[in-house]
Parts: sequence; C-alpha cells; structure tokens
Amino acid sequence: MSFSSRVKAELAALPLDKRCCVTAELGAFILGASVMTLKGAGKISLSFRTERAVVLKRALKLFNASGTASARPRLTLQERLAGRREYHLVLQDADSHRLLRDQGMLRADEDGVERFAAPQRVMRRNCCRRSYLRGAFLACGYIADPKRRYQVEWVYHDATRALRLKRVLSQTGLSASLSERRGSALLSLTGGDQVSELLKLMGASVSVFNMENLRAEKSLRERANRAFNCDQANLSRQLSASGRQIEALEKLSRLKGLSSLPQNLEQLARLRLSRQDAKLAELGECLNPPLTKSGVAHQMRKLMALADELDDPDHA
Ligand SMILES: [Zn+2]
Repeated sequence: MSFSSRVKAELAALPLDKRCCVTAELGAFILGASVMTLKGAGKISLSFRTERAVVLKRALKLFNASGTASARPRLTLQERLAGRREYHLVLQDADSHRLLRDQGMLRADEDGVERFAAPQRVMRRNCCRRSYLRGAFLACGYIADPKRRYQVEWVYHDATRALRLKRVLSQTGLSASLSERRGSALLSLTGGDQVSELLKLMGASVSVFNMENLRAEKSLRERANRAFNCDQANLSRQLSASGRQIEALEKLSRLKGLSSLPQNLEQLARLRLSRQDAKLAELGECLNPPLTKSGVAHQMRKLMALADELDDPDHA
C-alpha cells in the first residue's frame, strides 16, 4: 500500500466530529470529488466519485450525518481504463439541492433559478478548518512517499474550487501554490515541515509518527554522509602534492608569517594559497617575473624545507 493510501485509510477511519465539522468536511468533499449534473429547471444531481472504497464509505457516512439525507443514494461502479474502477455515489435530486443549499453553494440568478456557486463564507473555527483539510485530502489529494520527497497535491476541476482550499490552508499557516495541469487546477504543498503539519492538522497521527521517523532517519543519514565526505576530502587533500604544500605554507604563515620570507618565495606562497588547484606550470606563468615549472618546483621545495624546520606546537 502506498503512503498516500495509508494516510487516506487512516483519515477515513477517524470518528466524525461535531456537526459543524461534518458540514465542513462534506463541503470539502463536494468541491473535491463531486460531479454536478444540471437537469434543467434548476434541478441538480450531485454525485461523489472516487476510486477508493474507504473514501466512498466516508462520503456516505458524512452525508448521512449531515441531516440532509432523505433517501438512500444510489451506488454504481464504473470500469475505467486499465482495469481501474470508479465508485459513484449518486444523490437524489432533492437531497442534492438541500445539501448544496446547506453548504451555501447555491445562488439564485436573475431568473430566480438557483445555480452552483463556490461558497464564500469564511471558515471561522479551527475544528472546521481541520475537518475541511481532511475532506479535501480524501476527495482529491495525493501525498508523495516521504522517502522520496515532501509533497502533497490536490487536483481540482477548476481554480475556484482549488482557491477555496488554498485559503483554508493559509488560515492554518500553510502555503500552497496553484498551477494548471492538463486542464485541471493543481494545488501543491511542499517542504517536510509543511507536509508534517498538514498531516497533524488532518488528524493522521499514525502517519505523522511514521513520517517523522523517516525524516529523523534521513537527516541522520545525511549528517553521516556529510561527515564521511568531509573526511574523504581532507584525506585526499593530504595525499595530494598541492595539499602537502598548502599545509606547509599554512604552517609557515601561522608560525613565522609569510611577509618574513624572501620576496620571491612570499609571492609564490601567496599564489599557491590563493590558487590551490593550479598546476605548478600555471603558477609559474602568474609569477612576476614568470618561472618555468622546474623553477617553481625548486622554490616550492625551499618553502617546504623552511616549514619543515619549524616546530609546530599544534602538532607536537
Ligand atoms: Zn467544527
């Protein structure tokens, strides 16, 4: 089972909250997973669509708890491409209408015909915001495996629906970005802290725990890798000729001061320290007057010998 499926299963199994929260979660479901069929004369039929049975059950539970249900919704199963199945939960017209009105998702136009409109009211309670986030994730969300990356995505039919969630997210201090993908509106939340906080807000405490464990392991591994790479770098530096020269010159500079050296040696010493990866011939070309490679090598040997003569209290 993917991480995303596990999060959905955990969320779908949570007990229903207060009435206000049921309304909020159901509202998120409507915007995220419903299809509205207009039947003329203001009649609307609402159906929830999902590929997951747990999500379908949650939708049904919310609908029953909402107090708007008068008739049993009809359940159909549709075969999609590549053997994928999609469940449809079709509400009766009267129930669809009542539910949408309850959600503040209907507005009458000039002719008095009520049409669907994205809800305007601001969600004031924290409990309802958390429920809304849960509903939206169950309806159209996806979370990447935290082993790979920290990202949550929601795919909506249109930007108005996505913006509703973006606002609720920002009310809880989370920032998501909106873009378009193949004609759909895509809302995306990234970053380990944000993803973990979202899981916490939605009430997926087992998933938060699993994710934080993974994060801790990952950062430990990264720290160990960094330390290892650093050791490797030091080692290969010590092994290389230029590394030995730089070490000697740093010792000279520390214990004696480079300005105490004869001018030609001081010039070479400073050049070597500033261009640690340059070859001897390249250093020779930069000196004034220029020197051949063997000339540079000769002066470098003198510098190394001078450094060798010094007693280093740090390495006693
Ligand atoms: Zn509430």
